[in-house]
Amino acid sequence: MFSWLVLFLDSGAKMSNYLKISFPSGTVRDVPRGSSAREALELDGHFLAVAASIADKAVDINAALYEDCSIVGIEANSQQGLEIIRHSASHIMAEAVKSLFPAIKVAIGPAIESGFYYDFEREEPFTSADLELIEQKMREIIAEDGAFSREEMSRSEATLLFEKLGESYKVELINDLPPEVTNVSIYRQGDFVDLCRGPHIASTGKVGAFKLLSVAGAYWRGDEKNKMLQRIYGTAFSSKQELDEYLHLVEEAKRRDHRRIGKDLDLFQVSEEAGAGLVIFHPKGMMLRYLIEEWERKEHIKRGYQMVMGPQILKADLWKLSGHYDNYRENMYFTEVDGQSYGIKPMNCISHMLIYKSQLRSYRDLPIRYFELGTVHRHEKAGVLHGLMRVRQFTQDDAHIICTPEQLSSEIKGVADFVATAMQIFGFEYEVELSTRPVKSIGSDSDWELATSALRGALVESAIPYDVHQGDGAFYGPKIDFKIKDALNRKWQCATIQCDFTLPERFELHYIGEDGLRHRPVMLHRVILGAIERFMGVLIEHFAGAFPLWLSPVQAVVVTVTDKHIPYGQKVLELLKSAGIRSEGDFRNEKLGYKVREAQLQKTPYALVVGDKEIENGTVALRKRGGEQLPSVSVEEFIREVVSLSQRYE
Ligand SMILES: [Zn+2]
Ligand SMILES: [Zn+2]
Repeated sequence: MFSWLVLFLDSGAKMSNYLKISFPSGTVRDVPRGSSAREALELDGHFLAVAASIADKAVDINAALYEDCSIVGIEANSQQGLEIIRHSASHIMAEAVKSLFPAIKVAIGPAIESGFYYDFEREEPFTSADLELIEQKMREIIAEDGAFSREEMSRSEATLLFEKLGESYKVELINDLPPEVTNVSIYRQGDFVDLCRGPHIASTGKVGAFKLLSVAGAYWRGDEKNKMLQRIYGTAFSSKQELDEYLHLVEEAKRRDHRRIGKDLDLFQVSEEAGAGLVIFHPKGMMLRYLIEEWERKEHIKRGYQMVMGPQILKADLWKLSGHYDNYRENMYFTEVDGQSYGIKPMNCISHMLIYKSQLRSYRDLPIRYFELGTVHRHEKAGVLHGLMRVRQFTQDDAHIICTPEQLSSEIKGVADFVATAMQIFGFEYEVELSTRPVKSIGSDSDWELATSALRGALVESAIPYDVHQGDGAFYGPKIDFKIKDALNRKWQCATIQCDFTLPERFELHYIGEDGLRHRPVMLHRVILGAIERFMGVLIEHFAGAFPLWLSPVQAVVVTVTDKHIPYGQKVLELLKSAGIRSEGDFRNEKLGYKVREAQLQKTPYALVVGDKEIENGTVALRKRGGEQLPSVSVEEFIREVVSLSQRYE
């Protein structure tokens, strides 16, 4: 198929029959003028590209070359290659839909993060039977392996073309192009023609594997004043294996959804009745939270932090001083008390600084580490709220370390060590990112240099591998982010350390140095688990509700075989409770198998079955939540084992 892309055609220059094309290997080759990107890449030994990148612009693999340039092949399994495959799959879906339902109008069909969609105007909703038909048609189109061919034409030609086809959405898109655009490109495959910038794969057969996933309503151009269209979502990969892995991951994510598990295990609710983004913890959810917070408190005290607590609201003047009023007001809630404006805290920093300022501090007092399980309120947009992951009221395991510039490095190392301990105990792997000075920032070059090298130095000295995110720091200082990886390899932000020179300046914090003079301390804002709510959400999905023994809200349930075993069951239950084991009794007049299964569905680590034999021997029969049956043990032995496992955070 003839290809139309003309790059930087320079009619004035002396025409040579060969171009100088440079490749990522550094090789520069003479390539005949007018060769396609594919031919050029093949000359250099690249045969796997689905598209090409010329001077950083993605183009069709069959685009012709008319100018010296650098060229890189875009392979199917790269992020960019995948996007091109998915976008091309959306064209194939539109072709299939048009051939099955010719009256339908097509709107737009981009690639999205994990697949693609196309919007269609059709009165009757698409059914799952329709989706199957469309999939079948798409398979036929892919098997035919027809070419995607590009043409350029004037706006008016294109308008005429799409008017003739009755595709009014395409006509509207052309009409809305800025006036300086004189030409547009269209792509044809089979009988289907679409307005598109491209690039696409060379032919339909390059889609390795695809699946249509769902249908949803979507307003034309996202505007609810416009017509509601039907959006069909799908995904595509370069191979069947990758598609299967993805579909498995989607299923797993559904199975592990913390909102579902939160309901099944009766952990919490987020209800419209109470308000969006506001979490109500039920007894078992609160027990999980208590266990996390108890570990946190003990560990902070061990590591030289002092527990403090500030009020929920503070005078607006303080938020003006801190800069929140100017920079963060839209996310804050305000209230009025005795004619004075107060802000509900979105952060815990201010009270901690007021505690520091309550006394004259000397260098001998530093570092000072204030820790608060601080509850904050932030006005998140309704659309982003999600279970425990994104809420409007949450509690951070927040601390502020106020220290001398010389102490920065060892304090940062201390926090990094804290994070390592926490992640090991909760069972997560993690990655580390160092974010440096953004373009828009405040503070002196020397402060930024000092803080950034302290953060980097601490990571290097602690032998922690990290990525640098240039320019991603906060406007007031650089930071280290720790991203945990869950069982599905998804990354979640948890711990962060931020260096701050600004707030100590604004709040005029100082200490008396060895020289008897006043000096400005540095402040580190840091969290270890981050928002407890979100961390719980991640924990629930990571463990699919089957928490380690030490975190299980209920560790053991005593199950009777028949009613005559109830007195012994009650005795066992009391022994467990008085040993501090979180336990329940299931003495209902139900079948044993039913009760054991229910304990397993509730993800209770142990079911302790008591019947005739157990009463006779003073033992309990153990069933683990995975279904494993353990030998009977004495109650004392069971208690010893559970206490010891819990103490080791297992
Ligand atoms: Zn396209
Ligand atoms: Zn802070």
